[in-house]
Parts: sequence; structure tokens; C-alpha cells
Amino acid sequence: MDNKIAKLEKVRSFLREKNAEGIIVSSWQNVLYLSGFTGYNDAVLLVTNKNSFIITDSRYYVQAEEQAPEFELVKGNAMSPDVMKKLLEEQYVSSVMYENKAISYNDYFRYYEALGVKLKKADNLFGDMRLIKTPEEIMAVEKACDLASEALVKTLPEIKAGKTEIEIAAALEYNMRVAGAEKTSFETIVASGTRGAMPHGTASKKVLEQGDGITIDFGAFFGGVCSDMTRTFFLGEPCPEMRKIYNVVLEAQTAAIEGYRPGMTGGDIDRIARDVIKEAGYGEYFGHGLGHGVGIDVHEAPNVSPKGSTVLEPGMIFSIEPGIYVPDLGGVRIEDLVTIENGSLRILTKSPAKELTML
Ligand code: ZN
Ligand code: ZN
Repeated sequence: MDNKIAKLEKVRSFLREKNAEGIIVSSWQNVLYLSGFTGYNDAVLLVTNKNSFIITDSRYYVQAEEQAPEFELVKGNAMSPDVMKKLLEEQYVSSVMYENKAISYNDYFRYYEALGVKLKKADNLFGDMRLIKTPEEIMAVEKACDLASEALVKTLPEIKAGKTEIEIAAALEYNMRVAGAEKTSFETIVASGTRGAMPHGTASKKVLEQGDGITIDFGAFFGGVCSDMTRTFFLGEPCPEMRKIYNVVLEAQTAAIEGYRPGMTGGDIDRIARDVIKEAGYGEYFGHGLGHGVGIDVHEAPNVSPKGSTVLEPGMIFSIEPGIYVPDLGGVRIEDLVTIENGSLRILTKSPAKELTML
């Protein structure tokens, strides 16, 4: 990951502002964000006003030196408070910030309290920093989106009556790995027929039937970032109500993407899509927010829901994913990732046509 020096500078100015002498970074997401190290959960960082360290064990010495050259390698168990305690003493650090939003209650007592220094909460530091992506991070998300789209196109011929939802999810995940994805961003959702009314219906043993709507929500993890996309297809002709619902969802998504104006908050853009759905009479069937930020985590800031108060700005990446879910009938969701460029939204998920598609 790039711009590591600039990120470290930002962390240090935060330390000065908060009157702290160092910060311990322990979540794999923020270790990756700051250092580029990908040995998930097996390294801890210490950043002081002058120095930066990565503590990891012998499984990762070579990897840490290659991926995180800006960090001095400290050999030891990342989970051991003794190693960190010694390092803090050597660096004369007596007050340290910690990721209070990312650690467990147990780790607080077992690790942080054992360090014998003054502890200060980092709160939203990394959430705020990660809100605005670097050009390299935007390119990485776009690449992850491309891998996922390529896999979907390859999987489409396999979506037919008689297959189970799990078989579709497995084929899609296989095709994403073959295309270059390191893993999936999250558990693949394949919800068909009346199961489509469950917004987060992970793939089940249900067999696809002619006439079913099939909602597929999936993502590729690549280069340290996630993609996230949803498409709803139909096996043959949908019933008239599902056809209507599909077109309302598509209209809501298009209205939100085209209706974006600089200065809008997440709540403002949510309202554009929600009004379209309400006017069509389906307001009560759109129970979730319009979208969410995407980056290292598949769900991060900004919040793009009725409660979203953050002004959307260039460099942010977020999803636009309206949906309508009618119990005992089915559901439709259409989701794309967008970023803000030249005062409008640019779609990062290049995928098959979003017009109603019958397979
Ligand atoms: Zn999704
Ligand atoms: Zn999403």
C-alpha cells in the first residue's frame, strides 16, 4: 500500500494533538492500512513520535521486512504484553493510545492494562483516516470490482433450474479465485424465490426453480481491499409484481446515482432512493440503509443511510444498494460501488447490464 509516510505523519500529528507519546495498532485492518503487512492478526505496531515498529514472530520476519520497510522489526510474539512493555520502556513512552473500538474486553485487561502505562482511546482515528481513499486505494477497489464482475459473467451460464444456491455461490467464488481474488470479501449471498425476501440470505441448499428471482450479493478481496456488488436475475419470466419491483429498485438506484450533488450527506442521497420506493408503495419493504463505505472492510465509513450525517466527498467509496423485500413473494436488490469524481458519482462495478435480465 502506498503513501505510508503520509499516513504515519497523520498519525503523529494526532498523537501531538492528543498529548500521547505513542499508539499501539493491533487490528489486522489498521496494521495493513498503516504498514502494508498482510499476516492478518499476527503483528502489532507501535508508532511513536519518532519511530515505528512492527512486532511479529519468526513465521513473518522476511514478510514484515519486505512489506513494511518503514517499520523496524521487533522479533517477538505480537500477543505478548511483555514484548510491548519492554519496547515502551526502551522508547520512554509513558502514555499510549490504543484501538478501543477494535479490541476485545479480554485483551484490554490481559494485554493493555499489563503494559503499566497511561492508556488513551484512539476512538475514530483510523475510521476517519480511511474515509478518504488514496488514488492507489481507489484503483485497488476498482481492480477488485473487475475481478468480481469477470467471475459473475463466467458464472451466469451455470445459473439454471435444478442447481442449488450453494452450487451457484461455490461456482462464483471459484471463478473469483481463478480471476485473482485472494478471498471473498464476505460470505456470498444467493437468495432465490421467496428466500429473496431475506436481505442477507446466505446461500442455502434450496434448488433454483423456473420463474425464481435470484439475488446474488458478493465481493472479491484483492490488494488489501474489498469489492461489493449485488445483482438480481430471473430464471425465465418473473411474475408481474416482481417485474414491477425490479423496475422500481432500478429506478431508485439510478435516481440516487444521478441525483448526487456536491455537499450532500449520506442521508441526503439515501432519501433520493427512498422517496422513489415510497412513492411506488413499497416504502415499508426497504428496511436497510441505501449504502455503506467500502475499503479494507466491506462495511466502513461513510454511513449512507437515513442517519448518515457525513458530507460525501471526493476519495470516498461507498455502495448504492436499494432493495425491496416482500415476505412470501421475494426480493430485489441492485448494488454498485461508486466514488466521487468531478462533482458526480463514478460507478466502479462494471458488470453486466442492470436492465431486468432473464437467464
Ligand atoms: Zn453487497
Ligand atoms: Zn453492500
